[in-house]
Amino acid sequence: MRYLSTRGGIKPISFTETVFEGLSPDGGLIVPERIPTLSQEERKKWQNLTYYELAFEIVKLFVDDIPEEDLKILLQRSYATFRHPEITPVVKVGDIYILELFHGPTYAFKDIALQFLGNLFEYLLKKSGKKINILGATSGDTGAAAIYGVKGKENIAIFILHPYQRVSPIQALMMTTVLEENVFNLAIEGTFDDCQRIVKNLFMDLPLKKKYRLTAINSINFARILAQIVYYIYSYFRVCEREGVEEVRFSVPTGNFGNIFAGYLAKKILGYGIERLVLATNENDILTRFVNYGDYSRREVVPTISPAMDIQVASNFERYLYYFYGEDPEKTSETMQRFLKEGKITFSKEEIKRVQRDFLSRSVTQKETYETIREVYEKWGYLLDPHTAVGVKAGLTFKKELPMICLATAHPAKFLEVVSKALGKDFEIPEEIKALFSKPQKFEILPAEEKAVRRYLEERAII
Ligand SMILES: *Cc1c(COP(=O)(O)O)cnc(C)c1O
Repeated sequence: MRYLSTRGGIKPISFTETVFEGLSPDGGLIVPERIPTLSQEERKKWQNLTYYELAFEIVKLFVDDIPEEDLKILLQRSYATFRHPEITPVVKVGDIYILELFHGPTYAFKDIALQFLGNLFEYLLKKSGKKINILGATSGDTGAAAIYGVKGKENIAIFILHPYQRVSPIQALMMTTVLEENVFNLAIEGTFDDCQRIVKNLFMDLPLKKKYRLTAINSINFARILAQIVYYIYSYFRVCEREGVEEVRFSVPTGNFGNIFAGYLAKKILGYGIERLVLATNENDILTRFVNYGDYSRREVVPTISPAMDIQVASNFERYLYYFYGEDPEKTSETMQRFLKEGKITFSKEEIKRVQRDFLSRSVTQKETYETIREVYEKWGYLLDPHTAVGVKAGLTFKKELPMICLATAHPAKFLEVVSKALGKDFEIPEEIKALFSKPQKFEILPAEEKAVRRYLEERAII
């Protein structure tokens, strides 16, 4: 399988190259040259596979430059860190199914992609004899999952900036209690925007970027999407088996369109089976306006109690657009340029209809999110984190005859304050999370200045 840019400006590249590429040099996103679809025989076979076996079959379709035996080992290694034998179990809760994606080391779904990416990096660097320095800014989940993905790995150092005392205590502790030598936590005396600005400026310094092989770990990496396709197909088969049906709907709490884009690819690979994907947003509703009214227009970001979804411009949206336009790089490129200039794209009635063949959508307010956490707990005895609650509320809205599988993207204990407030009382949190509060920490407090971060990086980066 070879990989192309959504804007058509690069020669086809290999999977290995996409792993380190991030954004395509022409400004587009990297996509596979075609989406494989399942034959009847394969479908029969896939039905009964374990998570590992299925992951191997799916990854193999997209990766032809890593020997199969090595791929198997990489997958084993990536999911051995999970606390549940099924990796992503699906449980029945009242009228719906919950797909639990939070059994990884940092209790959020990003572990599924970043455990795999960390192992891929290590494996490919060992083969090439190269080293990388990962640099990123985080407001919470991504930083911790990235750190756990690469901690202790050879030929990799990771530098993660977070705004000092402005991320939730548990999220901060998940990062700062990692003591491995290749992990550097930088607590910046400023906001998340300051952190992002500093990281962006350092990446724009091309000699610096080249010298230290600075690498991003953001959600546009195709290897991350690939790892996320697996749980859609795995849970699809589990629920079909249980319900004796062949069609389901998924509800996905969405920010950067990464998770739901993996669902869209799963839908294409299966051919039939995923009837619609429910795209759930919080008050930052650009994607809901897109699905319902064809209005993809940028607005101010509103901070909410589901912060991982406080996003206006969804970085993976361009990938969907590329398929929406029938894999036409010119049309994609032209549309994205227009969006950059005008801050909006407007779709015709006919186009909206076409979008709605794949997606349903609604936005969920913070008040509804609190209510959903309380109601689901009172009615069905199951605790939701605020992101999952957004997806469940939207899922219940669009639940018809078909089974509805709602993706649980984080463990409720990660959002202790919000969940306690919704319930009006405290709740039991896992011992492992409690233990974080008494562990030693390692982090450096730095002013919100590019100069200070650059100096810190240059003194510690590996070359
Ligand atoms: C990142 C994240 C999301 C949003 O996922 P996208 O792939 O950006 O759409 C939702 N919930 C949680 C808990 C997250 O960490």
